[in-house]
Amino acid sequence: MISNRELFLQNTAQTSSSPRLIEVERAEGIYLYGINGESYMDLVSGFNVSNIGHRHPKVLDAIQQQLDKYLHVTVYGEFVQAPQVYFASELLTILPRTFESVYFTNSGAEAVEGSMKIAKKFTGRRQIIAAENAYHGSTQGALSLIGNEDYRTAYAPLLPEIDFIRFNDQASLEKITSDTAAVIIEAVQGEAGVRVPDVAYIRALREKCDETGALLVFDEIQTGFGRTGKMFAFEHFDIVPDILMLAKGIGGGMPLGAFIARKEIMDVIKDNPMLGHITTFGGHPLSCAAARASLKVIQEEQLLADVPAKAARFRELLASPKVKEIRGLGLMMCLQLESFDQVCSVSSYCANQGVMIDWYLHCETALRIAPPLTISFQEIEDACKIIRTAIEKFC
Ligand code: PLP
Repeated sequence: MISNRELFLQNTAQTSSSPRLIEVERAEGIYLYGINGESYMDLVSGFNVSNIGHRHPKVLDAIQQQLDKYLHVTVYGEFVQAPQVYFASELLTILPRTFESVYFTNSGAEAVEGSMKIAKKFTGRRQIIAAENAYHGSTQGALSLIGNEDYRTAYAPLLPEIDFIRFNDQASLEKITSDTAAVIIEAVQGEAGVRVPDVAYIRALREKCDETGALLVFDEIQTGFGRTGKMFAFEHFDIVPDILMLAKGIGGGMPLGAFIARKEIMDVIKDNPMLGHITTFGGHPLSCAAARASLKVIQEEQLLADVPAKAARFRELLASPKVKEIRGLGLMMCLQLESFDQVCSVSSYCANQGVMIDWYLHCETALRIAPPLTISFQEIEDACKIIRTAIEKFC
């Protein structure tokens, strides 16, 4: 009989030529289980999604309760959906008051697309500035902001009037002018290999945007919902962006994204023409119900409190002369090694020993470590023992 792995290779589009092909049976907490009963600690969190772990009982309960009420309904204002409106108001409650209106999407890239549109229409300007080595998603608009020439040329032509600044370089901010509609930037660059900007740089960026009238759009799709130890990473820099983009971790494991702004900015999609940005499934009631439960879990279980100590424990246990650098903010971390070969050997060994780690799109010499925030100190020790063995063996 043909196996599921063979069917996967045969019938579904492949995104790389070397998939790991572990067939997952179920997931719980920080563990994934394969069909042969083997377990894997998930130190990737499905790429910063499972911040509260897999299948948190309160998320499952919220989904079940919503399942018994309704799934998709007509969405452009015909029906008011309680999970959506409650989650929007809960989000606005934990954000600075300048955020007044939430637009729900299905994904991160879609939040990026919507943000670019409202920034252009609100300012009446056309230029968008992004940062070198940025990653904001794979749709054509989001891909236009990718700070990596290989991906841009492979899918050219992309959007016109996009320019790039160097990340964390104040001199480069001169490129932002009164022609700039928006600067779109990750609070901490993820796929560039976890690059944490200086506080002074982000403040200078905020000032430059204020000076020129450009909107500052923060991509917190990886950093949001507690990943860095604060609910939102912009809090580390003591500034407030004009538009905030979220996805990944906000849905508690369900697909959900959002862009959030002042009402006057968001209102541009309402008319001239009406329905200027629409989505059929964005803000699905199951996703919003799960997201509400997930936010409550983060708050009630005080998951942010231990993030700095957990990150410090990882750093302590993984420090080695063979690791060139450990970068990160909270539980968004990476270990800088010498080569992609080392990264492949270390991550394969770890997977065989039941620990899932990965690498970064624009930095394939760095190991990705981003566990659920719920990981215990004992689990950190167990995982690090295996990673440390692999590093000593292959680096
Ligand atoms: N922005 C950042 C910083 C990301 O890391 C990603 C995805 O990895 C995206 C945007 C795109 O999100 P999605 O894959 O949900 O479209």
